[in-house]
Amino acid sequence: MNPDFHIKREAGKCVACGLCLPHCPTYNLLHDEAESPRGRLSLMLALAKNDLPLSAKLESHLARCLDCRACEKACPSYVAYGRALDSARALIESQRAASARPANRSVALIQWLVEKPARMRRLGKLLRLYQGTGLQWLLRKSHALRLAGLNGLDAAVPKLQARKNFAEIYPAENKPMGRIALFTGCQAGLADQEVLTASIRLLNRLGYETHVMPEQGCCGALHLHGGQTVKAAELMRRNIAAFENGSDTIVSVASGCAATLGEYGKYLEDDESAENFSGRIRDINQFLADADWPENIAFHPLPKRIAVQDPCTMTNVLRQEDRIYALLGKIPGAEIIPLPENNVCCGAAGAYHLTQATIAEQLRAPKIDHLRRLAPDILVTSNPGCAGFLAAGLREAGLTIEVMHPVTLLEKQLKT
Ligand code: SF4
Ligand code: SF4
Repeated sequence: MNPDFHIKREAGKCVACGLCLPHCPTYNLLHDEAESPRGRLSLMLALAKNDLPLSAKLESHLARCLDCRACEKACPSYVAYGRALDSARALIESQRAASARPANRSVALIQWLVEKPARMRRLGKLLRLYQGTGLQWLLRKSHALRLAGLNGLDAAVPKLQARKNFAEIYPAENKPMGRIALFTGCQAGLADQEVLTASIRLLNRLGYETHVMPEQGCCGALHLHGGQTVKAAELMRRNIAAFENGSDTIVSVASGCAATLGEYGKYLEDDESAENFSGRIRDINQFLADADWPENIAFHPLPKRIAVQDPCTMTNVLRQEDRIYALLGKIPGAEIIPLPENNVCCGAAGAYHLTQATIAEQLRAPKIDHLRRLAPDILVTSNPGCAGFLAAGLREAGLTIEVMHPVTLLEKQLKT
């Protein structure tokens, strides 16, 4: 992971045509060239070439980037913007290392927590106590969270269910179709529990024996996009080792994780096992939509309006948002409505809603307005970060729209 090399290679491809500008949410919001992909690429290049020193201003322009990669999708010169940005943040972190000052303490804490599954389990215990004893209600009511600057963090955590320990193998329940390995990541005991359970049930019904590798952990996205490349590589290698036995397809239920897992091969250059690992990754929506469905599987009708939010990782990185609509189309009677302006990031963007709360809320506001106007019964999104951030916005707006993963909804309608 040589940051200078990647910045120079990718930013060097930019011909400054400006075709990406209308696709950039921060440029559209702030109307400043330095908040556009073209402007940021020129700043990164100047930093990598030592033409510009690292300054708070330069750092802030790069920190305000959502890493949504809408510009990358629009670029006719194939600039790998995401790669350039991750490299620039790594370069900044390496220069900052001397001061040993983290860029943001909340992000540093989250990065520390996700590094070890045992820390996430302990966090889950604490959060369940916090939510179950009424402490959360009390602190929210007293505005103490807002005063302590913890309201964003608190709002992003969904209501947790009782902890579930996943078995290592779930046998197929139909004509055997093969083995699948399920990526549970760092959130297995927290927000993703329901969708992991739903995914296992659907995979089993389709005939797939499902394996949950116990040694796996965080995909490394938070570290990678925060410039912590050494730690990110360590987390990547742990997952590669955890899934090394067998040639199974690896299915991820969170599109954000699937996007990162699918790029291990690009980040761990010259590592054949990383390339092999990435080649096995499928997003759950993609896998289920492309699978052969036995005739003995049917769904209960659902005469409800279902709004669909397309996470940036699904549209700009995996580029498979159509699979979500194909899956939801299996539910008889459901009215499926794509959320208007689905091509624009909702503002969650990993830890962005914590570090750049004002811009994040400005990006979320039109989504909430669309939801108020459309009045769906359910909002589905395949990324837990978007789900938590949008659910918090709906709560604040006093809207009672249930937020869930498309696969959770599909499984709820499954006929036994
Ligand atoms: S990644 Fe998103 S926010 Fe960042 S420059 Fe590209 S389009 Fe703009
Ligand atoms: S579209 Fe590509 S080449 Fe054109 S300005 Fe944007 S990044 Fe540069």
